[in-house]
Formats: sequence, C-alpha cells, structure tokens
Amino acid sequence: MNKSLNILQTPIDYLKGVGPNRAGLLRKELDIHTYQDLINLFPNRYIDKTRYYKIKELQRNGADVQIIGKIIHLKTVEQKRGKRLVATFADDTGTMELVWFRGHKWIKESIKINQPYVVFGKTNWYNGVYNMPHPEMELLEAHKQSIRTAMQPVYPSTEKLNNKGITNRVVNKVMQQLFIETRGKFQETLSNPLLTELNLISKSEALFNIHFPKSQELLTKAQFRLKFEELFYIQLQLISKNLVRKQKIKGLVFDKVGEHFSEFFNHHLPFELTNAQKRVIKEIRNDLGSGAQMNRLLQGDVGSGKTMVALMSMLLALDNGCQTCLIAPTEILAQQHYNGLLELIKGLGININLLTGSSKASERKTIHETLESGELDILIGTHAVLEDKVKFKNLGLAIIDEQHRFGVAQRAKMWHKNNTPPHVLVMTATPIPRTLAMSLYGDLDVSVIDELPPGRKPVKTVHRYDSNRLKVFRFLKDEIEKGRQVYIVYPLIQESEKLDYKDLMDGYESIAREFPQPEYQISIVHGQMKAADKDHEMERFVSGETQIMVATTVIEVGVNVPNASVMIIESAERFGLSQLHQLRGRVGRGAEQSFCILMTGHKLSNDSKTRLETMVSSNDGFEIAEVDLKLRGPGDIMGTQQSGVLNLKIADIVKDNDILKTARYYAMRILKNDPNLTQEENAILRYTYTQLAKHKNIWNYIS
Ligand code: ADP
Ligand code: MG
Repeated sequence: MNKSLNILQTPIDYLKGVGPNRAGLLRKELDIHTYQDLINLFPNRYIDKTRYYKIKELQRNGADVQIIGKIIHLKTVEQKRGKRLVATFADDTGTMELVWFRGHKWIKESIKINQPYVVFGKTNWYNGVYNMPHPEMELLEAHKQSIRTAMQPVYPSTEKLNNKGITNRVVNKVMQQLFIETRGKFQETLSNPLLTELNLISKSEALFNIHFPKSQELLTKAQFRLKFEELFYIQLQLISKNLVRKQKIKGLVFDKVGEHFSEFFNHHLPFELTNAQKRVIKEIRNDLGSGAQMNRLLQGDVGSGKTMVALMSMLLALDNGCQTCLIAPTEILAQQHYNGLLELIKGLGININLLTGSSKASERKTIHETLESGELDILIGTHAVLEDKVKFKNLGLAIIDEQHRFGVAQRAKMWHKNNTPPHVLVMTATPIPRTLAMSLYGDLDVSVIDELPPGRKPVKTVHRYDSNRLKVFRFLKDEIEKGRQVYIVYPLIQESEKLDYKDLMDGYESIAREFPQPEYQISIVHGQMKAADKDHEMERFVSGETQIMVATTVIEVGVNVPNASVMIIESAERFGLSQLHQLRGRVGRGAEQSFCILMTGHKLSNDSKTRLETMVSSNDGFEIAEVDLKLRGPGDIMGTQQSGVLNLKIADIVKDNDILKTARYYAMRILKNDPNLTQEENAILRYTYTQLAKHKNIWNYIS
C-alpha cells in the first residue's frame, strides 16, 4: 500500500524522458514537483480523433481537425519578418495550405511529396484559403499501425512550455512513461461502500481513463469519479471542522434575555420586524445560548434590514455581561452604522464609540482605555478594530458587515481577542450563490433574510445609451422637482485610475452646467478626498441640502438615504453584476417609486449585454449572483484572497453543482454516523483525509 505512495512522491526529475531541464520548467510553469503532481495534471479537453474531415467540409470555427491528403507542392515564401514554409495539401475534395514559421530545414528534409498523410491541427481561414499552422502529421501507413486512443487529451500548458518544446505530445509521452513506471496501479482513496453505492470506477481505472480514455463512456466515468472525490474530501473537511467546532470549542453562553434587549424590543423598536428578521434573530439566539461558539453567516439582500438583526444580537451580548463590536469595510459605512445605532439606542444607557483609521490619537486613547476597563459596551469601526493594540475586556460577539470585503484571515483575528473565542456573525449583502456558500463557507452556519420590509416598491431599472443623456437629465429634473434626490455614480478602476478621475471630474462639470446653482446643489464624493471632506459632502446629501450626489463606488455599500430615488450608473458596462446590484440597492429604500438608469455607449461585449439585461429583468440578489457566478467564475467573485480555495484540479463549482451536492450529502451522512471516521469501513477515508491535510494546504483558509 505504501509502496505506490512512495513512488508517487518521487521527484519528477527521475521520470524517464524528463530530466533536469524539463523538470525545472514543469516545476516553474505548472507547479509539478512529483509523480503525484504530474498524474494530477488533468487534461483541459479532449480531441476526438476518431473522425477524418474532408477539406470541403472545413468550417471557419478554428476547430482542431484531422484530414487525410497529400502534399503536392512545397515552397518558401519571404515575408517581412522571416520566411514561411507553405505546403499545398490536397484531398479529393479540394486543397488547403500547411504552414510553418520555424524548423524549415527539418521539415523540408523529412516531408514526402505525394504520399498520403494524416494531418491534425487547428484550421484558419486566410486570404480565401484554409491553412493549418504547424500541423501534427504522420504518414497514413504509420498512422494505421500506431495504437491510439479515441479521445486525445489536451493538457494545460503555458507559452513558455510550448516554446521550450514541452508540447502536448511531450506531456502525453511522459504521462505514458509514468503509467509504465507505476504500472498504472494506484492506491484506492474512496471506501468500498462509496464505490459500490455510487457505482464508481476504481482510482486506477479512473486515472488511466482520464489520461488515456478508452471510450467516451469510460472518460465520463473517470471524470465523475475524480470530481466526486475532489469535492467529497473538501466537504468532509468542512463539515467535520464544523462538527469539531460545535463539540469542542466552548462558546460563551448567552442564555439571558435581559434588560437591554427587552427594553429596546418593547419601547424603542421603530418598526415591526419582518418575519425573516424574527426568524434570523431566533436562530442567532439559539446559537448564542447553545454553549458552542457561533460562526454564522447572515445573508440578506440590500435593504433587507440586517442592521437591526445586528443590533438585537449585540443587545443580547450586553445583557450577558459582554462587550461587542461591529466592523464595516469603509469609514463612511462605519460612521453611518455609528450614527444609526447611536440614534436607536438613545436612552438605553449603553456606551458606544467609533474607531476608524482617522480617529484622533486622543479619541483612540479613550477608546483603548474604556475598552480594556469594560466601560465601553459597543465599538463600531473599520479594519482599525482588528489591530492588536485594540484589546477588549470581555468581547462576546463580533459582527462583520459586508463579509465579501473581508478575508477569512480577518475573521480568524477576531478569535484571538478573547480567551474564549467570541461569537462571530458575518453579514453580507452580496448574496453568495448557494453553490459557493456550500463550498466556501461549509464551516459556517447560514441564515438568510429573504424578505424586504413592507411597503418597498421594486426599483425600476432601465438601460439607456449615452446619446439619450438629455432625456435622462430631463427626467432627473422632474424627480428633483418632486423633492427626490439622485445619485450619479462613475466607475473607478485601479488600473485606469487617472482616466477614471478625469471622467468623474468631466462628468461633474457637465452636470454642474446642466444643473446650475442656486436651484440645484451638488455633492461630490470620491476616494481621493480627505475623510473629513467626504463626511461633510455625505452629510450635506443625507440632510437633503444637496439633491445630487456625484460619486465613485465609495458609496457602494450600506449607505442609507431613503429619500434618494434615482441611481444613475455611468459606464455601467464596466461594473460587475454584484456591484451594479449593490449600487441599485442604494435607492428604493423609501416608500416612493425608485429608478436605476444604466448608462452605456453603443459598443457592448456579449457579457456586458448579459449583465445589463440581467439587471433590467431581475431585482433578486440571489438570481443575479447566480448569473454573476456563471459569467465570472468563482475565483473572481471571491477575490484572489479566497480563490485559492477554489483551486480545484478537476471539478468546477458551477458546472459540477450536482456532483457537489452528492458529495456533500455523502460526506454529511458518513460523518453523522462516524464523526471521527474510526469505523473499519471508513479507514481508507480517514487515511486519505490525513494525507491530503499533510501534503496540501488547501485547508488553510478555514478559520
Ligand atoms: P441592509 O440589510 O442593507 O443592511 P439596513 O439594515 O440598512 O439594510 O436596512 C435598510 C432600511 O430598512 C433601514 O432604513 C432600516 O431602518 C429599514 N428597516 C429595517 N428593517 C425594517 C422593518 N422590519 N420594517 C421597516 N423598515 C425596516
Ligand atoms: Mg447594511
């Protein structure tokens, strides 16, 4: 059993046909160090070489095809940069060209004119003829004799590897060598009951058929087995972590519903809670009273009222003698939370303060002191709260707003702020598709607010071209006439920051011309302003002194001005879907009909069109998130910080969602019966799991 394992740990240098040069390249370019790594280099796609095409049948789709024909003519063509070797290739239906830009001498010497060849490669349409650059070719005679599998794998590669001669063919060859040296025998990694119940092929069979598929059917089986295995072990890890946490990590027990909570609930609640809010508060109360540490993700669309849930959870913590903190991703948001909460808890005798990057030294000092003495009950802030200097006397609950901006590392930091880890509630307004939530946050429990407060009218969203701008401005004037306020948002992307600022300032000027003072007042907020100036401008808009807010995405999250009823998004095609949805969430917070106008030029990519259409047709954050996930892939959505998690070798979280569900189901069932995998039939799972944890750090992200 261990022998095959040892072989797989052999450095790739030792594989026949690899050698130190190629090994170095494989390490650098593809992170392949050992036999094991090589065997886990799964093909991106497969080429079906079972079919031969006629030249007449070629299509302008750039596909890889296989053609039988003869070279009837060969010539060298001079061109600006170097020479080109061109062969005229013919079959009984027509002619095409084979083209080489390098290696002319060798090709001229080895090519046989008027002999049947099988050529294979990508075809291009150029100047009225099809051509195939650098084809793979083989004499028909030899082709008939060589043993080949129906489906040919295409491996991931890089330009450098290709240039250095490590072509797909070479990778294929070393892979064959690997199977020869290991005799194609690999240790089984799934248990018998799983193999039987799911009708899976063995590990050895799967690995063989993923690299050298004997048939379409076996390829499908191999893919299923390997994808299942990959997802299964991730789920096993996530779920068992969660179980362990619940069993082992003692949480502070908040079993009292005390004065603060009751007083607030009975006398200060400004509105009736929605059913969803009530349900979620109940879920949180259960967690807090259970004796286990809470690690809960609260998902709720923009405007669904997460802040109230946060406040009531904080009150529970206070009633049980603990301090709490609430962390937001930006200063503006932290400030707004602070102002809002200050207002809500007025008269309850609760001590609350705000700590951000721009807090003055004297304020900081007070905050540090009152935190450590226990005088301060609630601390609102930004990342500044996470700094090691910030010590609590008794932190019982940490709430993180807008989770997607925070990495797991930050979440983990909260743990060390107390002897007993505090309960953690993370709130996100970017609904995370269930698929992702499942694979990323399997270690969190999830609550969802799936209901908006009553009386909200869905925001009407339209797409308008820049050429209709005057009409849009007229509409704005009408809305402002009715007493409403308006956001106009410009994109600001780091790579093109300078140009973007120019757009913003140009836009601001043209708006200022179109909406002249004193009739109209305009605020402007962007990232290059000082915090105090930003706050001042925000304040003018919040108080209604200005009717128009021109801004970059700094206002994206959380900002709450119920009287604002129009959101104009400039160059909307440059925003991602979740950002667009977030921005739209800034309006539609009052009882009035609100509007979101997506402005773009006429030139739009297909993806941009899909995004705009999705925004126009849907107000449902979860639906939008699913589309976003499909367009962008999981890595982009979670940011590079967490994308490593999704660095899957074979499975695809979006496409293989069904397999993910199956894997999760089985992982859960197995752990339920045998939490520590100590039963005989699960020995193999336990062994593999431990090995994986040892050799790979893919689990690091879990807090
Ligand atoms: P988000 O979930 O986006 O953080 P907020 O907590 O900012 O949403 O709430 C959005 C707005 O809805 C706020 O003005 C808040 O006072 C209001 N709100 C929250 N819950 C209710 C409710 N149950 N009934 C009426 N209004 C509510
Ligand atoms: Mg919020």
